[in-house]
Amino acid sequence: MHTLEKIKNDLVNLGIKSGDTLFLRISYRAIGKIDGGPKSFIDALLDVIGKEGTIILTAFPKKYIRQMRFLHRRQILSSNTRLKTLTGVMSEFAIAHPDAKISRKLEFPFVAIGKNAEYLTSNHTHDKNAYWIIEEAIEKFNCKCLRIGGEPLFGTTHLSLEKALRDKGENQTNLRYGIYVKENGQTKWYDTPNVLFCKKAFNRNNKRIHAISTIAEGTVGDGYAIITDMRKAFDEEVKIFSEDIHNATCDDPNCIICRTSYSFSDCSYPKFLLRQTTRIFSSEFKQAIKTIIKTIERITFGIKVI
Ligand SMILES: [Zn+2]
Repeated sequence: MHTLEKIKNDLVNLGIKSGDTLFLRISYRAIGKIDGGPKSFIDALLDVIGKEGTIILTAFPKKYIRQMRFLHRRQILSSNTRLKTLTGVMSEFAIAHPDAKISRKLEFPFVAIGKNAEYLTSNHTHDKNAYWIIEEAIEKFNCKCLRIGGEPLFGTTHLSLEKALRDKGENQTNLRYGIYVKENGQTKWYDTPNVLFCKKAFNRNNKRIHAISTIAEGTVGDGYAIITDMRKAFDEEVKIFSEDIHNATCDDPNCIICRTSYSFSDCSYPKFLLRQTTRIFSSEFKQAIKTIIKTIERITFGIKVI
């Protein structure tokens, strides 16, 4: 069991400073048990960054396929009720913090605490991009990413991929999700268009991004911890994608994102479905059936997201 003091020391030793603006990707499990639970971690971190610092976390709720929205008329988000998030225990505890601020863009919300929280969340409105808050935090507050455990992501790939696709005049077709939001007494459906990226492809680029953006590495509790410069990570990813947009895709013949979703993907839906059908007769039949269902969903409900 780690004490709050121990976590605080680990954060300081890692290089977190007073006044830092941090986007958090924290696996509580990776840290190990803390006296006082996830709340203690947040308290320790807020103590280290002080009054001038800010933390930002994703707080995404459950969303629904746009074309099926008539089934979800009762699933309404409102700023009057506490947001239920799917993005992990750390986000849940951040939302419960008395100083927590939530994006006005409730269909794609982030939670922030600290000096710039009010500015970032109140300006993250419906008309803004999904990841506007991260873009703004990088631009204005030199936001860094603090990751403990979890997948080796840098928090910038949605932004960089979207920019690269736009710059190259390419696009992606995905399921379009959204949710009803109640505001000023009115309930309205909001879409949450967002690019999807392939983690296998990302992992291939990981080394380059890691090398250029890492500020510090160490341990917090029992977990591997890393601070990265988000602007550098973003710039490097954009560079990787603009060198060759196919760097956003993997080689797996059964990867639905890479083989079918991009305007430059190399497989048509019928060809991809045929490939999955042949796979049913192998040991991979479970995966094949899942992929067939996903493909049919995409054929039926897929819309260009950018
Ligand atoms: Zn892929």
